[in-house]
Amino acid sequence: MAAIGRFQKADEIYYAKVVDGEIFKLHGDVFGSPSFDKKPTPLKGVKTLTPVQPSKIIAVGLNYADHARETGKALPKEPLFWLKAPTSLIPDGAKIEIPFANHRTDFEAELAIVIGRRMRNVTPAAAARYIFGYTAAQDITDRTVQGAESQWARAKSFDTFTPLGPYVETKIDPHDLSIQLFQNGQLRQNGNTNQLIFNCFDLVSFISVNMTLLPGDIILTGTPSGIGKIESGDRLEVRIEGMAPLVNMVK
Ligand code: MG
Repeated sequence: MAAIGRFQKADEIYYAKVVDGEIFKLHGDVFGSPSFDKKPTPLKGVKTLTPVQPSKIIAVGLNYADHARETGKALPKEPLFWLKAPTSLIPDGAKIEIPFANHRTDFEAELAIVIGRRMRNVTPAAAARYIFGYTAAQDITDRTVQGAESQWARAKSFDTFTPLGPYVETKIDPHDLSIQLFQNGQLRQNGNTNQLIFNCFDLVSFISVNMTLLPGDIILTGTPSGIGKIESGDRLEVRIEGMAPLVNMVK
């Protein structure tokens, strides 16, 4: 497998492998040992969905030193995480909606981990075997709400606040990838996952000690510096090395 997406045509929803802009339908369990059509499926009328339907989204904060500095917050000694509502997910191409016009709402480009096997109490050394792959995400944040509350679930769980996808890359080394966010073509965030304080294996291990992770669960690994405000009409593009771009408009 390489890039895996979830698609819909009329009432039919299916997974497929994506190769050079063509899609090949998947048969069997996407997290098991699936097989694929030999011939591509015509793309006419096919919509891209979020690549997985997680039981939970776990978001990690302050996991890049330069971002922690720009927020003025101290680096956490252990990974700092919270839950984001799965109903906040939107696929590539869908619109991000700003809930309150008088609040500041921000973009945050992040690398997302997709869990592939049920896991609990897994060591960092064994973690890679439980990871299905990686994809691009945004942890959209109502900064006004976040600043007013000590819990961040509300600030980060509004509908449309977790753009994810378009596809899951199952064969990629997650720890040396450039991660960029472009707002209307302007480069705003420019980091590399080699700057992660707690790397992907540390994160899934730590979280698995605290709660069971299930296939399809998503972990957002934190954002690099350069966060900024979004406005209606913006075009936001997350580019992570080795992955298809994640593009969403704002309304
Ligand atoms: Mg974040």
